[in-house]
Amino acid sequence: MGEKIEPSTQGVSRRSILKSAAGFGALLAAGEMAAGARAKASDVQPAERQSVIVLGAGMSGLVAGLLLHRAGHDVTILEYQNRVGGRIWSQTMRNGLIAEHGAGHFKSNMPHVFDLISRHKLPLVSLNAPLTRYQVDGKTADSASLFSWPWDLNAIERRVGVPTAVIRYFLAHGFNMHSVLADSWPSEEIFRRLDGITIGELLKTAGASDAFIQIFQAHIGEGGVNIGALSGLPNLAFHLSNENSYRIADGNQKLPAALAALLGDRIILEAVVRRVAQRGGKTEVSTADGKTFRADRVVCTIPPTVLNEVDFQPALSEAKLKSISQMIWAKTLKVFVQTRTPSWMKRQVYGWPMVGSDRSWQRAFDVSDNQAAGGLGTVFFSLEGGAEESFVALPKSRRATAVIEAFQTDNPDLFDEVLASESFYWGDEPWIRASLGGPGVRQGWMYQEWAKPEGCIHFAGDWTTCKRGWTEGAIISGIRAARQIDPAASWESLGA
Ligand SMILES: Cc1cc2nc3c(=O)[nH]c(=O)nc-3n(C[C@H](O)[C@H](O)[C@H](O)COP(=O)(O)OP(=O)(O)OC[C@H]3O[C@@H](n4cnc5c(N)ncnc54)[C@H](O)[C@@H]3O)c2cc1C
Repeated sequence: MGEKIEPSTQGVSRRSILKSAAGFGALLAAGEMAAGARAKASDVQPAERQSVIVLGAGMSGLVAGLLLHRAGHDVTILEYQNRVGGRIWSQTMRNGLIAEHGAGHFKSNMPHVFDLISRHKLPLVSLNAPLTRYQVDGKTADSASLFSWPWDLNAIERRVGVPTAVIRYFLAHGFNMHSVLADSWPSEEIFRRLDGITIGELLKTAGASDAFIQIFQAHIGEGGVNIGALSGLPNLAFHLSNENSYRIADGNQKLPAALAALLGDRIILEAVVRRVAQRGGKTEVSTADGKTFRADRVVCTIPPTVLNEVDFQPALSEAKLKSISQMIWAKTLKVFVQTRTPSWMKRQVYGWPMVGSDRSWQRAFDVSDNQAAGGLGTVFFSLEGGAEESFVALPKSRRATAVIEAFQTDNPDLFDEVLASESFYWGDEPWIRASLGGPGVRQGWMYQEWAKPEGCIHFAGDWTTCKRGWTEGAIISGIRAARQIDPAASWESLGA
């Protein structure tokens, strides 16, 4: 626990990335199925050098831009903020401890993420596997005392604990945590079968008790249970399968920074895109400071939550506009806490999540093991689905203290001394105004829609794939967009 790990220089599973996957899921990921309908607009000669403007320097834009740059195209990336990385954003708190506003951990079943980490030799730090405390329906119990849990659970749930029971319920439906992450997943038949059903409904029909579903919601968050199964199953495969969890030493934003270093001055910061026009097979992009950029192609990774602030000429298709207006996004409030020691370890309560509840503060995550500084404890809270609202209504300076006080009222035994705290609200960020989101139940058509280019404009972003909400999904979407422009764009070329 807490050890630093130098990743091997061997690609983690490069073979699995390169393996050409067949099936509906692979077509969805590659955008080939959807792009077929507009083959004329998207057909390019691989040898032809093109100019490409990428909108947004999050992971999807950086991957698309770098793939196309390495394939010999003339790439410019326009980024709203004064930094790259989008929703991977690390900030240093007091005592050198790091707060991850967005992506907090990576699991070893994310092949593209780990291939990049390995190629760029980014040192990793391991996180604790969870030994979670649950506080649900007025009752409290720790994972360490599973056999005496006070809820009305069935025999399986009582015997194996929350993550394993969930995995077993999905096995009963024929889904295992490896196959749902394959490039070829979902098949067309599975796509149809899962589009109209939530994770909670899948659990229920596999025999989960009502009490168990409540506890599981405390573990994974409300969004993890009511999410559509198409993205919900990959989400749980990342969260629950028995894989190691890591973060990058000195902050996860080292990952986008490593890609950005390879792109150099092709990235223009503080370039707020306001207009994207297409005329005669060319594109023209204008920014808020009055500059205009021209190119053959555009890759748009601007989140749908702010896409209506960009003037597309001609307008985006009816289907994309409908998707933008109907897609559901959370507005997460994160609260970071430093304590004198990771005192919860003595109680055998720790990990990701450390405490899951149906209380106002929702969930606490122990990330102290990833911190190098002298034995301090670090925890963050993540509130969403409406629970954040009463805290966000407070002055910013009061938010963190209010969440911590509510938590300590329910858990007086876990924190020793609070040394510092901070809050971060995703709804305040003008470049996204939200945190996590994507197509919901019966909205599988949106994945197909965003895989379709519109004339010379291609789309990427984690929310355009079933692995939404994860860096792995963002990378896959960037690869798809790059290959729509140049089918020869090669993942291998992304080496350091
Ligand atoms: C709270 C939270 C927790 C998360 N936890 C994890 C985790 O533990 N593990 C994990 O793997 N992933 C996690 N994620 C998800 C991960 O952060 C995302 O999947 C990934 O960073 C998304 O990359 P992207 O390129 O798709 O989008 P973004 O990172 O959102 O990039 C979009 C970019 O577009 C730019 N932009 C917006 N408007 C304009 C404009 N008008 N002009 C120019 N540029 C513009 C933005 O500034 C931004 O840089 C988490 C995310 C959040 C928010």
